[in-house]
Amino acid sequence: MRPGRSAGAARLSALAGRPVSWLRQVHGETVVVVDGAGAVEGGEGDALVTSSPDAVLAVLVADCAPIALASSEGVVAAVHAGWSGLVAGVVDRAVDAMRDLGASGIEAALGPCIHPGCYEFAAADLDRAAAALGPSVRGETTAGAPALDLPAGVRAALARAGAELVWEAGTCTACAAGTHYSHRARRDPERQAMLVWKHA
Ligand SMILES: [Zn+2]
Repeated sequence: MRPGRSAGAARLSALAGRPVSWLRQVHGETVVVVDGAGAVEGGEGDALVTSSPDAVLAVLVADCAPIALASSEGVVAAVHAGWSGLVAGVVDRAVDAMRDLGASGIEAALGPCIHPGCYEFAAADLDRAAAALGPSVRGETTAGAPALDLPAGVRAALARAGAELVWEAGTCTACAAGTHYSHRARRDPERQAMLVWKHA
């Protein structure tokens, strides 16, 4: 769907069969908790957390990483994580918010995002990311230029937050023309949507 559009959100809600909560994503660390009273629509933030079986959480991506988090206590989260959000600590903040709602063991799934082969990166930004997330974020493009390894950054952030990555799509959005949208590779205006909800 196109980003930040109510019409797109209405289509998602129709698909999900109930209101879908979504945010105006700003590559920060703000987490919004959704209670059972109704959907959150268009507030500012990059992660949604809920313990309500009535809530459906959505993040929109086209190269950034969509991360689903769940705990056996029934607390779930949807996180939009680009490199600056990872550096700002959006994964840590989402896990903290889940623990505040009673989550203990937290598992994670990482959807399609841009991979290092397609993600050439400026040296100064790469240094900043490595300082925050560790050396595993230093990657190479297919042409041999310095690159950010976004999946490695997500793995590092999850490990630091104490969440276990149990599934990874392994798809590069920039490579996957025809099946995935990419802002960087094709300037696609559309976005993938990841929906997360608590299974009744
Ligand atoms: Zn690629």
